[in-house]
Amino acid sequence: MTHAHPGTALITGASSGIGAVYADRLARRGYNLILVARNRDRLNALARRIADETGRIVEVLDADLNERTSLARVEAKLREDASITLLVNNAGIGTHTALLDSDLEQMTRMIELNVTAPTRLTYAAAPGFVARGKGAIINISSIVSVAPEILNGVYGGSKAFVTALSQSLHRELADKGVRIQAVLPGATATDFWAIGGLPVENLDPGIVMSASDLVDSALMDFDRGELISIPSLHALEAWQAYEAARQHLSTQLSSNVPAPRYKAAH
Ligand code: NAP
Repeated sequence: MTHAHPGTALITGASSGIGAVYADRLARRGYNLILVARNRDRLNALARRIADETGRIVEVLDADLNERTSLARVEAKLREDASITLLVNNAGIGTHTALLDSDLEQMTRMIELNVTAPTRLTYAAAPGFVARGKGAIINISSIVSVAPEILNGVYGGSKAFVTALSQSLHRELADKGVRIQAVLPGATATDFWAIGGLPVENLDPGIVMSASDLVDSALMDFDRGELISIPSLHALEAWQAYEAARQHLSTQLSSNVPAPRYKAAH
């Protein structure tokens, strides 16, 4: 039996860590690839290996997503290449440094990479997906999106944006044939930690997952149609209770009168 070709996946931050594993796994699932990151040598080496091993077409697009003209090149690719059926918004940076010890310019660049870039890339990809009635966006968020007290607050806030955007996009686009998934990794063994100033060796190994296990589990959730994937969460029922409480709250949050607890003040 022959299967329809799944199309092309564009993956940001594909030169290392989680993004490089997505590249490998998606090629093995039959996707052609467009790999985006700054380090062209690493992208080329990965592209060659994956193309040799899988026979897929692997294109490299070196782009600094913190830089508007480079970001615009990736946006244009997403708008113009109708073979693209999957966008993986994965590129991101983070840190554990406290607010008062953080450099504001660095925090601003983090927001541009973690928030502005995936937002602009989503705006570039989604209209084509909707017009073709087919497409998917996987957004790599983080567990800190629901637990922002764990690491740096700007990082947590940026990932809360990614999770919230994904939930809202799912509501808007699900019935238009566009799949959305937010992946919330816990600590994962990648360069992310050393780049953020705390090499992963400093963490309790009991809380650190391999990038391979993370991606394989998240793709299993993708196949199951799960909007939110948290591979490191064992007690799934805790998330389900949290989500049920959030949905319940969402119907009660607006009113034309203050709640009775404010009565004395009026
Ligand atoms: P990583 O190994 O450091 O990978 C980050 C990727 O983003 C690299 O390919 C890097 O490539 C790319 N990148 C960084 N800055 C960029 C820029 N300005 N323009 C374009 N590409 C850029 O870390 P990772 O853990 O795989 O991170 C992937 C995602 O997972 C991030 O969004 C991160 O927030 C999220 N996450 C990670 C963890 C964890 O514990 N590792 C946990 C939760 C969530 P170049 O340097 O070549 O540009």
